[in-house]
Amino acid sequence: MKEKIRLAEKSLKDNGFIVRVFDNKEEAKKALLDSISTDESVAFGGSMTLHEMDLYDDFKKRGYKVFWHWKAEDKRKELESAYNADIYLTSTNALTLDGKLVNMDGTANRVSSMFYGHERVYIIAGRNKICKDYEDARERIKNVAAPKNAKRLNINTPCRFTGKCNDCDSPDRICSVEVILHRNPTGANINVYIIDEDLGY
Ligand code: SF4
Repeated sequence: MKEKIRLAEKSLKDNGFIVRVFDNKEEAKKALLDSISTDESVAFGGSMTLHEMDLYDDFKKRGYKVFWHWKAEDKRKELESAYNADIYLTSTNALTLDGKLVNMDGTANRVSSMFYGHERVYIIAGRNKICKDYEDARERIKNVAAPKNAKRLNINTPCRFTGKCNDCDSPDRICSVEVILHRNPTGANINVYIIDEDLGY
């Protein structure tokens, strides 16, 4: 696994992303809190990785202005505030050994904020998100992440029941938008934190 992390780190750097590697989530959390000033507003994308790291509570306790629709009653308003935040935190559905970030989304708030509109973006990924290539990433998203997310959200998609993608036309479809970051986009400041632990899905 260390070799895979090293390869992914190098490729992501070659593609213009700022990359750091951590042994565990506590180290990554400390680095994040040290990198973001309390003067900056912070938005969270939907992410089991961020949830498992308890990051939201840590930011709140330290007095940051934090927006996360998972924690808000008025989700629409919270999403709007998140869209305008200085900093955006999220995970990625997959990152590849050739340095691409591959994501699919239903609403697309998360994937759009990954590449435009924020001063800095931090993408936190456990080692389980590393995939060989784009095809492997797509397979992971459709047949691992999507079924688990569909179950968590209790939505009516085939993958929720079968654990496999059926390329459905369900109104609840959670993979309507696909975004691949091939390189750090012009003017973007995207930080990828890879953690040598399994986190999220
Ligand atoms: S297309 Fe439908 S069945 Fe396939 S992963 Fe997406 S939501 Fe699930």
